[in-house]
Amino acid sequence: MNNSGCDCCSDKSEKLLPLADALEKITSSLTATQATEVTPLRQSLGRILADNIHSPIDIPPHRNSAMDGYALCSGEITEHNQKLQLIGTSWAGKPWQGKAKPGQCIRIFTGAVVPACFDTVVMQEKVEREGETISFPFPTLADKNIRLPGEDIRKDEQLLEIGRQLTPADLGTIASMGISEVRIKQKLRVAFFSTGDELRSIGELLNEGDIYDSNRYSLYGMLKRLNIELLDMGVIPDERRAVEAAFLAAAKNADAIITSGGVSVGEADFVTETLEKLGQVNLWKIAMKPGKPLAYGTIQETAFFGLPGNPVSAMVTFYQVVRPALLKMMGAGDKKTLRLKLPCNQTIKRAPGRIEFQRGVLKQSDDGELCVTPLTGQGSHILSSMSKADCFIIIPAECAEIAAGEVVVVEPFDSII
Ligand code: AMP
Ligand code: MG
Repeated sequence: MNNSGCDCCSDKSEKLLPLADALEKITSSLTATQATEVTPLRQSLGRILADNIHSPIDIPPHRNSAMDGYALCSGEITEHNQKLQLIGTSWAGKPWQGKAKPGQCIRIFTGAVVPACFDTVVMQEKVEREGETISFPFPTLADKNIRLPGEDIRKDEQLLEIGRQLTPADLGTIASMGISEVRIKQKLRVAFFSTGDELRSIGELLNEGDIYDSNRYSLYGMLKRLNIELLDMGVIPDERRAVEAAFLAAAKNADAIITSGGVSVGEADFVTETLEKLGQVNLWKIAMKPGKPLAYGTIQETAFFGLPGNPVSAMVTFYQVVRPALLKMMGAGDKKTLRLKLPCNQTIKRAPGRIEFQRGVLKQSDDGELCVTPLTGQGSHILSSMSKADCFIIIPAECAEIAAGEVVVVEPFDSII
């Protein structure tokens, strides 16, 4: 049993919006940035590709050897222990330029051009050499140990698509085509701040009732991983005028604003009220746990996301709602996050009604089988659970109990972080 649920969700009469509906409403209202820039290849890591990439050349560009060995005509060795005369060497980057006559072969190294007069390569370990005479123990077949031009990528083939977030392998692949610069989407600018009179920044003293502002740090990390340009606006007190001034400054300077706290309907919660005054707002109670309240709207042209203040709620809402929205704004293509089906090795009992993102730890048995264990502290204030966990266990809204050993859907943090 694992349900310390401390978000209050007792009011069954309130209208909760399914998470999928909220996501659909948000992503369909947002458009991808059209602004692009050209950057040296290395600086494009993690950025969003703005042009399709076609290879201007065949890769590999030439027929070359896959082995260190001997290049020859396969028709010459039809019986055991036939011999050929060694007449030259083809090195990687220094092709052999000679002409072979019947009865001759050359030494060849991995990556070296296979001269047109030869049709096969025999591995060096398989032959015997005595001076300039090479003895081949077995008959040879054509086309062995030869890499063909275009075998990896053909000339003009489109390999990478607009919207791709470039990986280390992509950088290498683009370099293999001889391309030095790529067109990418410009970085999104996101302004973010925390709201709450109780919040102190690191370095300040805590008075009674104060806590350190952690959301701005987890938000910083999550945004940084998306390669976003950040505008950290600090902590804003629960005062109408201060919240309003922060909203206006943020809207002027950013493509999106993210706040945390103050989106409930408490007396000190000015976020939604201010958004209503300055722009357009939807305050949704999303049927998800943790992270029920979410404010979404616009101020002028700027998208606005008001996250709940509880630290786990803020992170879960970011990953499940804001991240896909920002990816759409960044021009990233639709890439599904990895979700696995794995047995859960503990019973989970809970109140049904909201999709839940429990924090879990993946375990691998000695024979390699994966399973997941939910952490014990699942309250939306237990931020350490996000550090201890390496995945979300996603429990469907209607599910009231998961029996130990039952298969659950798991989202590894590695695929979203
Ligand atoms: P609120 O959404 O403003 O009602 O806050 C809900 C809970 O989250 C309260 O316990 C707040 O103290 C806490 N909280 C709000 N903002 C932050 C923050 N930036 N860092 C850590 N805790 C926060
Ligand atoms: Mg507050």
